[in-house]
Amino acid sequence: RGAFDRIRTLDGTLHAVLATDEARSLDLARKADRRLRAGERTPVLGLPIVLKDNLHWSGLPMTCGSRVLDGYVAPYDATVVRRLLEAGAIPIAKANLDEFAMGSSGEYSAFDPARNPWDPTRVPGGSSSGSVVAVAAGYAPLALGSDTGGSVRLPASFCNVTALRPTYGVLSRYGLTAMASSLDQVGPIAATATDLALAFGVMAGVDPMDSTSVELPHRERLADLRPLDLNGLRVGLPEEYFADGLEPGVRGLLDAALRVFEGQGARLVPVSLPHTRYAIDTYYLLCTSEVSSNLSRFDGVRYGLRSNSAASTLAGMISETRDEGLGPEVKRRILLGTFCLSRGYYDAFYLKALKARTLIAADFHAAFAQADILASPVSPGTAFPFGAKTDDPLAMYLADVFTVPTALAGLPCLSMPAGFTGGLPAGIQLIGPALSDVRLLEVARAFQ
Ligand code: GLN
Repeated sequence: RGAFDRIRTLDGTLHAVLATDEARSLDLARKADRRLRAGERTPVLGLPIVLKDNLHWSGLPMTCGSRVLDGYVAPYDATVVRRLLEAGAIPIAKANLDEFAMGSSGEYSAFDPARNPWDPTRVPGGSSSGSVVAVAAGYAPLALGSDTGGSVRLPASFCNVTALRPTYGVLSRYGLTAMASSLDQVGPIAATATDLALAFGVMAGVDPMDSTSVELPHRERLADLRPLDLNGLRVGLPEEYFADGLEPGVRGLLDAALRVFEGQGARLVPVSLPHTRYAIDTYYLLCTSEVSSNLSRFDGVRYGLRSNSAASTLAGMISETRDEGLGPEVKRRILLGTFCLSRGYYDAFYLKALKARTLIAADFHAAFAQADILASPVSPGTAFPFGAKTDDPLAMYLADVFTVPTALAGLPCLSMPAGFTGGLPAGIQLIGPALSDVRLLEVARAFQ
């Protein structure tokens, strides 16, 4: 009930929430209460949680931040949602996002965009804008977002919370609306790594409904996260990530955070990820290609909106529906991706990008011979004012320079608060080898 009071008080300004079903959530709360009284314990029993509105929670509308899904009601639960419900977590709201998770600021939502609780004239970061704001503003201790190229880590950095992008496959994508399937991962968000680990442990593991899902080693350590002994830990600093363009205030916070690691006995070692400069191009070629294919399902026949225009042919109805229902960033990506995949350009763009992706992944592999984890900025700067980048898609894409390489490589990475500069928060990113998610969180725990 307290959570709903808080939403009523704050969300008129913050716009983090797109839908609630208060009666249903209160009913789930009563059930959790009965289980608690009966002596049952799970890591999330009775904990309120907010879900990004590209995750299916049956019975509630799901918009994906788009008009094209007007009227669509989720007919089933995503696997991650089902596992949380079974463990007694209480979903309380569906959260705002950039349309179909495409964006870095939250501004590409088809609805009033979410605002940064630290300064409501600034963006919260995206695309999991509402999920992160919900945690930062205290609506709920836990939230789920999704991270295709940085969408939980970037807003976490802008809003002073902790968010994990797991190793690709550790969290089932069944019931997460596909944006770019080879990159999409669900990402848990909380104030600290310890809290986030509670939800992560309950959700992780193989799911027969997602053939790319894998088992997470040491999952049992998540229910009671212990700090890792950092003595002798080699923390690699990718030289390409500490280059020009990093705001001095953010740089200062990173240096201070790295001194904390050193203070606990960690050793800082320089490493190089030489193909970093191709990461943004590679990501936006692969991402838009997959987007163009995945979003073809929104055709006015199967889901949500159907145009009322007087189109007299099926093709006319489909194109009117897509024209009315989809926003400018989504259309831009569908066009770019369709172009990349078309005959004559496929080899030059899509295939080339696949090869570059392999090189980027190999860079990380080589770096992990010299370092146990890597540390880096999350974004070159802090939260920017509304409108600062909406007219310049390239500037918006560049906010992701430090978050897309790990997504291309499928590696676990997290963003955790490093402090404030100029009155605004900024995070530090930690990156681990594949399937080292639990240890990565234990490193974060030692810092927090
Ligand atoms: N900002 C990136 C993009 O627009 C990442 C989005 C995401 O991770 N969902 O594609």
